[in-house]
Amino acid sequence: MSSIRGFFKKHRLWVAFVAVLTPLLLLIGLQYVWLVKLAKLSAVANQAALTNYVQAIGSEVRYFYQSRAERALNIPASLFTQRQLDKVARHWRTKPVEGVRQLFLVDFTQDRFGNFLSYDSRRQRLITPLASEESLAIIAACQPFQIMSYYQRSLEVTSLSVDERNPDFRIILNPITDDASTVVGVAGMIVDGDYLKEVLLPAIIKKSIPKFFPDSAQSEMAVTVSDGSGRRVLATRDHFEPGDEVSANIPFIFKNWTVELHSPPLLPKQLARTSFAFNMSVALLLAVGLLGGIILALRAANRAMILSEMKSDFVSNVSHELRTPLASIRVFAELLKLGRVQSLAKAREYGETIEAESRRLSRLIDNILDFSRIETGRKTYRFAPTDLRDVVESTLKTFDVHLRHGGFRIAIEGVSAALPLVDVDSDAISQALHNLLDNAVKYSGDSREIVVRLSRESDAVVLAVSDRGIGIPREEQEKIFDRFHRVSTGLVHDVKGSGLGLSLVHHIVEVHGGKITVDSEPGKGSTFSIRLPLDRGPSPEAASDGPAPEAPGSSKVAPAGLVTGAPDTGSGAAGHATPGGVAHRGSPAG
Ligand code: ADP
Repeated sequence: MSSIRGFFKKHRLWVAFVAVLTPLLLLIGLQYVWLVKLAKLSAVANQAALTNYVQAIGSEVRYFYQSRAERALNIPASLFTQRQLDKVARHWRTKPVEGVRQLFLVDFTQDRFGNFLSYDSRRQRLITPLASEESLAIIAACQPFQIMSYYQRSLEVTSLSVDERNPDFRIILNPITDDASTVVGVAGMIVDGDYLKEVLLPAIIKKSIPKFFPDSAQSEMAVTVSDGSGRRVLATRDHFEPGDEVSANIPFIFKNWTVELHSPPLLPKQLARTSFAFNMSVALLLAVGLLGGIILALRAANRAMILSEMKSDFVSNVSHELRTPLASIRVFAELLKLGRVQSLAKAREYGETIEAESRRLSRLIDNILDFSRIETGRKTYRFAPTDLRDVVESTLKTFDVHLRHGGFRIAIEGVSAALPLVDVDSDAISQALHNLLDNAVKYSGDSREIVVRLSRESDAVVLAVSDRGIGIPREEQEKIFDRFHRVSTGLVHDVKGSGLGLSLVHHIVEVHGGKITVDSEPGKGSTFSIRLPLDRGPSPEAASDGPAPEAPGSSKVAPAGLVTGAPDTGSGAAGHATPGGVAHRGSPAG
């Protein structure tokens, strides 16, 4: 149980990530399946929409002819029985019917075989038609009613009927019955095919296309109408790609005419596929955004966790660092107090140790205070043209006892040759060198050799500290300059430290417009090189005389009233101290 808890605690970020990722992937999976289904369904639905469309055109045509026929052909039987058929002519005259070639009546009340009368629209009256193909078509169409009337059969249900035996004369008929359901006459119309193809169908198609299809699809569609012999009588576009076709016959009249809708190949499937791709991309985009947000949040949490771990390590490390020098100071002070010193030399040695340890303490406290000043933006620097050899020399002097106790040998190179003055804050550079030396001592392992080298490059002076100690793995070399970062593998475990030293060095070097680099190999040692430019670049205060004010903010600098990039004086080449264990190697300046 506790091992499970331990696992969750150790890998809580991964657990959180998996906990979010799993439902997200599940959601996307389900969305995919659902969209695939939807795409299939919408392909079918699109196909159905095409079919609906051609059927709707047929329905409109039927509605047009039925409504016109009902209005024009519903004639009361009394007009037949009371011989008032001229009223019908008046009715047709006042309410003309569009799309009709000929209106006619057959009166069975006067003649058992029927008296055929056609409406002469020019003279606006009923006339007896001449023998013609048209008259023959009317006679043939009315024949069933003629027979019914002749044999006095009753017609229970009267409704419009259509006779299309002669396609040139398509006729709508309305049988007129009296109260006894006997057929007393027939009213009919011969429909005008030209009107249908030239006026009615184009108007219906134009009106209905936008209702069924989105704008983008309309331009790719074509509607054609073919007559009973398959001849194309109407086309909305001259040219169109052969593709998916949907067709339906016109109901009621012109039943052998076909309305065809031509859509580009695969239009319904294409539409479905487009909407699938769109929906899936939106879903994936959202998921990626969500995942990005989660990763960022987890990274921030991870960073906060690492930082908090580092801070608690820092507290314990610093306590340890403080305790060690304090303990030796106390021991040696007690020895002195109790008068247990055999000789003056011994007393001096104790005093030196106390001094060295208290210096170490101050350095540590300086580091911590500087760190806090940098963090709060209160750290200030005082720049002045400085001979770096002096800085190296005085720093090594304060380090002397520490080195001697550890049995270290420091070789200094390049101090005997002239070096140009560099505009630096000498305390800060000394602190940086201290930190590097401190590290060289701490991480030297069994080796006891340290080299401090000063050299000149074309536009800079380089201060390097080398050791032959445990070295730093390549992947750690960038991170060691981060605050609190300590290499957590190998021998470093045994060495205590605050993790602040290098971050301070890095900060100091940056403020000087310089650069710090590390060249290290595990097991072979490390060289830290601080490259300080001779010209730090322009700064507003650089040319001012008089004492420099303290500038707030870590990036602000306060030069000590002297111009940066002062001429190379070449002074102080000789007479450099060689503190205990420090040997000169008079290599020329680079
Ligand atoms: P610390 O107080 O831990 O020494 P630093 O910031 O000075 O903190 O150094 C960061 C880390 O870099 C150290 O913990 C150590 O792992 C590594 N390091 C620094 N200097 C050296 C060196 N000369 N040789 C090997 N490792 C070093």
